[in-house]
Amino acid sequence: MAQPVQLTAPNKVSYLQPTGLFINNEFVAAKSGETITAVNPYDESVIASVASAGAEDIDLAVAAARKAFNSEEWQSLGGYDRGLLLTRLAELCERDREILATIDAWDNGKPYEQALGEDVAEVISVFRYYGGWADKIHGQTIPTSEAKLAYTRHEPLGVCGQVIPWNYPVMMAAWKLGPALACGNTVVIKAAEQTPLSILYLAGLIKEAGFPAGVVNVVNGLGATAGAALASHADVDKIAFTGSTNTGKAIMRAAATNLKQITLETGGKSPLLVFEDANLDQAVKWSHVGIMSNMGQICTSTSRIYVQESIYEDFVEKFKQYTVENSIVGSQFDAKVNHGPQVSAAQKKRILSYLETAKSEGAQLVLGGEQPAADAKGYFVNPIIFKDVNRDMTPVREEVFGPFVVIQSFKDQKDAIAKANDTEYGLGAAVFTENITRAHTVANAIQAGMVWINSSQDSHFAIPFGGYKQSGIGRELGEYALSAYTQVKAVHVNLGTWL
Ligand code: ADP
Repeated sequence: MAQPVQLTAPNKVSYLQPTGLFINNEFVAAKSGETITAVNPYDESVIASVASAGAEDIDLAVAAARKAFNSEEWQSLGGYDRGLLLTRLAELCERDREILATIDAWDNGKPYEQALGEDVAEVISVFRYYGGWADKIHGQTIPTSEAKLAYTRHEPLGVCGQVIPWNYPVMMAAWKLGPALACGNTVVIKAAEQTPLSILYLAGLIKEAGFPAGVVNVVNGLGATAGAALASHADVDKIAFTGSTNTGKAIMRAAATNLKQITLETGGKSPLLVFEDANLDQAVKWSHVGIMSNMGQICTSTSRIYVQESIYEDFVEKFKQYTVENSIVGSQFDAKVNHGPQVSAAQKKRILSYLETAKSEGAQLVLGGEQPAADAKGYFVNPIIFKDVNRDMTPVREEVFGPFVVIQSFKDQKDAIAKANDTEYGLGAAVFTENITRAHTVANAIQAGMVWINSSQDSHFAIPFGGYKQSGIGRELGEYALSAYTQVKAVHVNLGTWL
């Protein structure tokens, strides 16, 4: 047994933090005794240490998930009852929403109000939404001739490994768990080593909701050990991953060992296009949301802005002003603040290195020259805006994953589309125009899994989420996620001809 610890966060919320690996509905220590330490990115103070899984712990978690998958208890539970379990989990998340939001704000650095009003609100909705789907997962009947009928069953895949990132800790867990459980799978889920806490609290709620032992197993651990062990495990049927493109490629290679099903949601360098007929104030406002929300730590963040020549300088000036007035940097528990620290020292260092690279490559700095010293307490990065960039510059090509945006101009619609698609990624895109024909023409021409017309980051749990090109494989959320967690069996029925 790993003992929980009583914690009190800076906002005075007090709760019992589990510290073990969650296997078979129990919190247990890692076999090696190793731990991960969670720190507050605001002041680098230690929050708690939790168990860190090695390969042998992953074996135990997978064995528990397999046993649960094969159990009479889980197999005989109908979709309606799985739906009830998910609905009950949603209710428990709602009851404890302030605790969940506190943990993610504390551990990740995101403003508490956003953790509460966006992340945890979405967790509750996602569990409810997939609770609703659980008894509506049907196949088809396919009559082929008088002598033959066929029908399909949408069956669960089995044991699903899920590897999630640190930018939306508990929300990413919900995106992965909701559809997997609705479809009748069992799960081993690994959180990111930077944010190990909220998923353990969620694990306690999963047990309280009444999920049978072994249906959901939660492990923290390092990517290269626990994550790699899960992705290559011979008894895991599917691996679902959200994170960087390079890690996605490593997971794909590891998944090849037993030809696992995969879904990957990887990196992005999403364009935002502002045409001269756009509502400029709206474009400015959404451009800010698009790159500065969650301190730029969003895979779909619209980090490349393209503005039509005639309004380019005007847009840059307005966007700069808007950012100066609306990005309030400070503690994640200060209600005025909407821009907390980055998640880790490594991320801060990485973003600031792109600042230097952009300058040395000749990009024009508009905002962000003033940055906290590299050794200042807390992992703060102020908003960074560059203009007059070109396609060959490093920060135009590479995902920075911070409050860092590059702006350049375009001539006409054809030029805008060509520039938007000039990337190896294809996750999101945004188009600002008041011309309805242009809006849809451009949306169709952009090679990306999601296009927002006159908004950015305006996602919803009922709408599929995923990428083109090197931004991923498969879709999460919405009805589409159900096909990522089921396999189709065709049953052929001979209608009585025994020839
Ligand atoms: P970042 O570089 O921002 O930390 P990653 O894509 O490396 O993003 O991490 C996302 C998730 O993938 C985390 O849970 C991490 O532990 C996990 N991970 C990292 N490397 C591997 C790997 N080789 N195999 C499986 N999981 C990994």
